Parts: sequence; C-alpha cells; structure tokens
Amino acid sequence: GRHWEVKKVKTVCPYCGTGCSFYLVVKDERVIGVQSCPDAPVNGRWLCIKGRFGFGFIHHRDRLKMPLIRDPFLFAKVTWPTSLKLVARRLTEIKEKYGPDAIGVLASARITNEEAYLLNKFARAVLGTNNIDHCARLCHAPTLVALREAFGSGAATNQLAEIAEADFILVIGSNTTETHPVAAIQIQKALRRGAVLAVIDPRRTEIASRAHYHLQLRPGTDIALLNAIAHVCLQENLWNQEFVIYRTENFAAFREAAMQYPPSLAAAITGVPEELIIEVARHYARAKNAVIIYTMGITQHTCGTNNVYAIANLALLCGHVGRRGSGVLPLRGQNNVQGACDMGALPDYLPGYQAVTDPSVRAKFAAAWGVEIPDHPGLTATEMFEAAAEGRIKALYIVGENPMVTKADTSLVKKALENLEFLVVQDIFLTETARFAHVVLPAASFAEKDGTFTNTERRIQRVRRAINPVGEAKPDWEIVTLLAREMGHPWNYSSPAAIMEEIAQLTPIYGGVSYERLEAEPEGIFWPCPHPEHPGTPILHQENFTRGKGRFHPVHFAPPDEQPDKDYPFLLITGRYLTHYHSGTMTRRTPLGFYQETLLEMNPEDMAELGIKPRDRVLISSRHGSMKIDTTPNSNLPRGVVFATFHDADNPINLLVGHRCDPRAKTPAFKGVAVRIEKA
Ligand code: SF4
Repeated sequence: GRHWEVKKVKTVCPYCGTGCSFYLVVKDERVIGVQSCPDAPVNGRWLCIKGRFGFGFIHHRDRLKMPLIRDPFLFAKVTWPTSLKLVARRLTEIKEKYGPDAIGVLASARITNEEAYLLNKFARAVLGTNNIDHCARLCHAPTLVALREAFGSGAATNQLAEIAEADFILVIGSNTTETHPVAAIQIQKALRRGAVLAVIDPRRTEIASRAHYHLQLRPGTDIALLNAIAHVCLQENLWNQEFVIYRTENFAAFREAAMQYPPSLAAAITGVPEELIIEVARHYARAKNAVIIYTMGITQHTCGTNNVYAIANLALLCGHVGRRGSGVLPLRGQNNVQGACDMGALPDYLPGYQAVTDPSVRAKFAAAWGVEIPDHPGLTATEMFEAAAEGRIKALYIVGENPMVTKADTSLVKKALENLEFLVVQDIFLTETARFAHVVLPAASFAEKDGTFTNTERRIQRVRRAINPVGEAKPDWEIVTLLAREMGHPWNYSSPAAIMEEIAQLTPIYGGVSYERLEAEPEGIFWPCPHPEHPGTPILHQENFTRGKGRFHPVHFAPPDEQPDKDYPFLLITGRYLTHYHSGTMTRRTPLGFYQETLLEMNPEDMAELGIKPRDRVLISSRHGSMKIDTTPNSNLPRGVVFATFHDADNPINLLVGHRCDPRAKTPAFKGVAVRIEKA
C-alpha cells in the first residue's frame, strides 16, 4: 500500500478493566496516536490519560524482538525454532522426571480470551496439570469465591452505565476516579442527577473528597461496618422483606450475626461515627436504585472473602441486586482479567467456571481435546511460588505477568524463581521476572493482534490488529500453538476467530459468541450468552439468581492478624496512581512515566513527630522485609497509616508485604501491613 496513508483501527484499551474503545492511528506500520471513536459503547468520547497517551510502549526500543536463551549468564538471541525446541524438550523432560504437577503456568490478565483459553488448554491437555492461574489471585479471587456462592456468579451484576441511574452509590475500598477513571464518570453523572454518594475508605481519596459521606474506617474493619449497616436496616425495619422471603435463603443465620453489630460497637471498632453508619444505612435501604462498587480495599485482606460476603449480604437484605440500576459491581482491574477467569486460567475451573472436579465437565473437555483432564484442582499462583521455593514446582511458564514486582513477599518470589530448573517467560519486555528466565519468548502487544477482551461488565469486545508484530514477536496464541505442536499435539488454529469457535462450543456462557456477531454488534456481547440467537445478559440475577436463590453468609469481624505495635507502629496500604499501571512495564515506557514517581505518603503530623521532612529518605521495615524510599506528606491519610504504590521496580514495596493471605481465595493481604519508619 501507499505508506504515507494514515489508517485508523478500532480496538480496546490495554490498561484497565473499564474496556474503553478507541482508534489506533497508524502510519507507516507505526502507531502514532490514539483517537476517540464517538460510538465507543462503554466510554463514548471519554478516555483517561493512560488510554489517550499511554501507547508509546508499543514502539519502545526495549521491546523484545527475538527469542532469548540464557547462555549461561547472558541472554543470546536465537531463532524461533531453536527456542521452541528447547522449551518443548525441557518441559517434556521435567514432566517425565517429576510428573506434570511439577510444572505451573501463569497466564495473564493482559492477553486475549483466545490466548487465555489456549494457555488453559496447554496446561491441562499438553502438560497434564491443573496448575494454571493468573493475577486475579492477587485481586478479585475473593470475589470469585464469595459472589459465586452468594449469587451464583462471581462477576459484576450490572453495566457501568447503570451507575448513572442509581440514587445511592456506596463505594468501598475503590479509588475509582484514579483506578477506573472512565467508569467513575458514571458516578459523576449520578451525582449531577442528585444521587447520594458514600465512600468507605481509610484514605481520603479523590472520590472520597467528592462524597456526601466519607466513612474513614480503620484498615481491615470492613465487616464490622457492613454488619452494622445491616443491623440498622434490620433494627429500623428498612430491609426488603419481600425480596428476602422469595429470593434468598439462610436469612435467619445472617440476621443473628448482624444483630451482634449495633452501630455503637462498629463505631468503636472502625472509628467511624455512629451517626454516619446510621445515615448511610438509611440511604442505602431507602434508595430506589442503589449500587455498591468495590475493589482491592475489600479483597486484599486475610478476610477478603468474608468482606465480599458482607457486601453481598447487604445487597440481598435490601433487594439491591437483579434490577436495572441496582447491583454489586466489583470493578475488575486489568483489561482482560474478567476474560482470563472466564477462559479457565484458574486452577479449579475449566472455561466458563466449569469445575475440574466435575466428572461430566472433564468428560466433555476430554472428548473435545482428545486427552484426559486431571481431576484434582491445581495450585493457585500463591501456592505455586511457595511450592517452587520448596522445590516441589520445578518449571514455570509465565506469560505476561511480572510477579517480581506485583506479587506479595518479593523475597519468596525471588527464591522461587532462582530455584526453578526451568523458567520460560513470554512478554513484550524483558521484565524484572524475565531476567530470571532460561528462555524468553517475545510476544506481540495488543496493537499487533486480533482477539477479544471481556471488560468488568462481562462485555466481550473485539481487539483488532493495527500493525504487524514488531521484530519477530508473535501473538501469544501463535506461540502457544507452535509450542503445543512442538510437544506432539496437532493443534491447528488458523486465527483467533477459529479459537473462539472452539470456546463457544465448550463454554456455555460464551456459547453464542462469534466474530461474525461481534462485527455485527459493535456494542459487544454480555455473557452469559448461551446460543447464537441469545441477546446476551447485561443484568444478572433478574428472575432468579444464577444459583437459584441468593444465599446469605453470616460473617464476623476478627481483628486483623497483623496489628501495629510499638516495634511496627504504622499500617502500610499499597495501591495505584492514575498515571501508572501495575508493574509499570508499559506506563514507565511512555511519557506518563514522568508524572508520578513512587513515594511513601505519610500524614504530615506523623512526619513532624518523626522529624521527617518532605523528600527525606526513610528506611521502612515490616516483619517481612525492609527497603529505602523517599517520603511525601499527604494530609488525606489518617495518622498511623502510610501509602505507597507498587508501580516501581526501583521501589519494590511488595518486599514489605508478607505471605499472609485469605485462606479460601489465597489473595495476599496487601492492605494493612504493620511497618516501622526511620530516617535513613
Ligand atoms: Fe483505558 Fe481504563 Fe483509562 Fe478507559 S479508563 S482509557 S480502559 S485505562
């Protein structure tokens, strides 16, 4: 073609789970800009700074362009056939020597549905293990457990646009305007309509500063607060009796538990004034439409699963679920973390949340894939690293994840990676994790491939190839297919569309999804969409809950196991900034990298007391590790609480976060680590 021509390719943002669409503007095989598409279904013309200006990583000089093999100290560039033969041979040797469960696969929340599906198939059918997981383990794994048991589906119940229709919005542990900026526009729309906003968060975040009610609780005390809100609804007879009687079960047990949390007790535990608890309860119960929005402030605790139960209980009690404008919205973090879960990148579920422990499910996949499916759930990501550190896992295949920066307990992660007999990392950059690899495989970025992402609303949307892969990089689906073939499995996928055909056949919630339909329906398809004539399901649990009746789960507050004491007097909370994304692999390679550096935020009075001035370097230590970091005052933090992001490998804050995790979901407790701070 004429290379001076500029073309525009409509695709989906590679950053957060909001799922904004935009045009990539391409000239001469280079992405030169991002433009709004006026008909973008989620975001209209809106984009946040990451979506609008965060594309510079695509052509960054650091992109991996050739496979690399460690030789033995430095990486040497090799051809695809050489690298794939080596990976196939080493994985086969390790499988034969130690058994398939000595190998683990970390899939990614960044890759497409088709790619996550193939990685799930690669682990189970080629390697023969259910040891596959991805970074949902670090974020919404408690949602998968608790919302699934309460409602029958561990996903957001309603569309983002319905937030604008709510009369009352309760945001818990979500810094929405910074972490899901375009989703937060819907909150603004509701506020303009006169909706009431309450925010539960230990920090006075941007969204908290806009709220009518800010319930600034002590970290880790959410259950006491949520139970007390339920207590007020019960005590004042504000609960939805009809809904509870006809649509729920286990109410009596829940009622008994909640009645043990009068607001006075919750006030003492949480530090939130009693009147605030009562007013928020009245608003929530009386609202015609009410939504609860939550993220990591709820899930990243040792009681993460119980926190989510407490939220579900409240929604059931007041009947604020299963209706337009009323629901529970766990905002998913990454562009395709919903899809990676849907596609079976989980140790206990095949695609579509079909349990590996169910013999009929295994039989269906065995018939389609031509191999037996192992019957015991695999290890979670948390457990895989423990197993690798102990020598039980011998090889890992990590695709598009950077656990050296993002996982808790960095010392353990490092030990685990060093311990491995064989590590393959497939990514777009030589990440902090890839430096430990024996083989590094160069993957294509989102701009270089076709596929689908599923956003936080369960909306499946098309990702479109705008340019050819840089250098010799290949899309992940092609790499996995080549690797499976190298290991003797006759996989034969001609395109992501062909992979989606197989997904639709085997995954009832995606049964009606096809590329033809996604072209014809540019607004995307909401799962469950069981067959081609089905319109998709924007709102869950309308007639019945996915599980039949909604189920209450009584939960009790227990003081967090990690408490400040005289040796570790502060509580550390980790989180994100607007301009960065997770381990910073992408955003730190764009102009956004200059906007916000990683600093330890402290209450100015705490700083004064310790004689620390802004920008002073401090030594911060927890019971798990220590590091040095520069400080900055932030009066939006309560005294005794400090905050830092995990975006910056040069300030590896996860060194301080230990291995404590939720016992069910295995999600680490990133929120609320007791630390000591000294002038360095
Ligand atoms: Fe991308 Fe999320 Fe920003 Fe939308 S809100 S542009 S999906 S990072």
